[in-house]
Amino acid sequence: MTRHKTGLLGGTFNPVHRGHIELGLKIKTAFGLDRVLYILSARPPHKKRQTLPAAELRLAMLQAALQPHPGLETCELELRRQGESWTIDTLRELQAAAASGERFYFITGSEGFLKIRTWKEYRRILREVYFIVVLRRPEHRLKVERLLREEGIPFGPALLEADPPPGAFLHSYVSDYLELSATAIRRKRSHGQDVSPYVEHNVQKIMEEIKLYEEG
Ligand code: ATP
Repeated sequence: MTRHKTGLLGGTFNPVHRGHIELGLKIKTAFGLDRVLYILSARPPHKKRQTLPAAELRLAMLQAALQPHPGLETCELELRRQGESWTIDTLRELQAAAASGERFYFITGSEGFLKIRTWKEYRRILREVYFIVVLRRPEHRLKVERLLREEGIPFGPALLEADPPPGAFLHSYVSDYLELSATAIRRKRSHGQDVSPYVEHNVQKIMEEIKLYEEG
C-alpha cells in the first residue's frame, strides 16, 4: 500500500516568517513527507486575541509565503469552524477526509510541544498521530523526553521499526532562523526597523501596504 505522509504545522502565523518556512521544508525533506499543511489557528485559545489581526489577513500572508513552495499548503479548516481553534477538532476533520493509508505527522517546535498539556484532549492527540518535535534549544531535549516518558509515548529507537506505533521523533537542525519569532518581527516593525531578512518579500509587501504592526 502506498502510504501518504502529511505533515501538520499549526500556528497563529502573526506573521509567518522564514523560521516557519524553513521548518516545513526541512521536515518535509528529512521525513520524506508528501506535503505539509500549515494550519492557521483562527481563534487560538492560548494567545491574546484582542491584539491578533484578523485570521483572513494572517491567511493572506501565509498564502503569499507558501506560494513559491510546492508541497507546503495552507489549511483553512479552523477559519471555517466556529468557536475556539482546538487541534483535536481539526484532526478529527482531517482524519474523516483522509485517504486510506494516510499518515499524519504533527510538527512542532520544542517550546510549543512542552505546552501540549494545555491542549484539549492532548492525550488522544499524542496517541493518534506521530509527532516531530524540533529542538529549538539543546536543553529542551531532556524536558521533551521526560514529558514523553510520563505520557507513555514511544520515542527514539522504539520508532525505528518498519511500521512503528504512533510516537514522537525528536529532530534537530542547525540554522540561524531557529531563534526567530513572530513576536520579534512585530516588535521590530513597531520600532520602524527593517524585517526583510526575516520574512518573505511578498509578506513584507502586505505588511507595508497596510502598515501592519507599525503601532507598538
Ligand atoms: P509568536 O512569537 O507570536 O508566539 P511564533 O513565531 O512562535 O509566534 P507560531 O505561529 O506560534 O510562531 O509558531 C507555529 C509553530 O512554528 C510552532 O510549532 C513553533 O514552535 C514553530 N516555530 C516558530 N518559530 C520557529 C522558528 N524560528 N524555527 C522553527 N520553528 C518555529
